[in-house]
Amino acid sequence: MGNIYVPKSAMAITAHPDDIEFSCAGTLARWAKAGCRTSFVLCTSGDVGIAEENMTRARAAEIREAESQDAARILGAAEIIFLREPDGMLVATLELRKRIVREIRRFKPEVVICGDPTIVWAGNDYINHPDHRAAATAALDAVFPAAGQPNLFEELELEGISAHKPRKVFVTSWSGADQFINIEETIELKIEALKAHKSQMGEWDPAPSIKEWAAESAKGKEMQYAEGYRVVTLVDDETWEKKNGAVSKGSSSS
Ligand SMILES: [Zn+2]
Repeated sequence: MGNIYVPKSAMAITAHPDDIEFSCAGTLARWAKAGCRTSFVLCTSGDVGIAEENMTRARAAEIREAESQDAARILGAAEIIFLREPDGMLVATLELRKRIVREIRRFKPEVVICGDPTIVWAGNDYINHPDHRAAATAALDAVFPAAGQPNLFEELELEGISAHKPRKVFVTSWSGADQFINIEETIELKIEALKAHKSQMGEWDPAPSIKEWAAESAKGKEMQYAEGYRVVTLVDDETWEKKNGAVSKGSSSS
């Protein structure tokens, strides 16, 4: 595999407990293996995602948070944060934006990974979950410009956390991806992490689908399995290095 870009730190922000595992887990595992500190931020704890008799939202959240912790451990995450917004009712409010800004300013990630809020459907048999769109909108709006503006949500300064502008945003994308991360070495970890979400898997073996989708993303590139992103660079190398020291110069697509 080529000389890959590895950020020093990365924060993935998603709606539900298994969203990271479905979308960007191969990349996060690869970066973590290379020394990147990774943070998982889950907006909801998936509390309406277990359809069993007598299941309560509180119990479901407990089960799914435990599964997420197992998955995060498999993927080498440094931390996992539960915002505990209500599953199925996530809205990209100013309050949610502020809560995400708080996490970004605290962890100070070089890269933020989030979803694509413009995805509404794929093919003729899928409607993107409204929570996914809300989380993606809130995350992007938190990243830019809010997290980097000291006079916005300035009350967070009282918590001892200062403004921070991430260097890059990796938007997980099915059709609009322009950069592809080779996940050949970590696809098995991705599958294992997905299987940690036992309450969601039932009899389903995720391996064939995950491999098929990753092979689709890798098509035409010199790799077997990939995850695709639309990458937005918010801070150029020179400016970033002045503040944060030398950075990885490897290619984003490798
Ligand atoms: Zn989801």
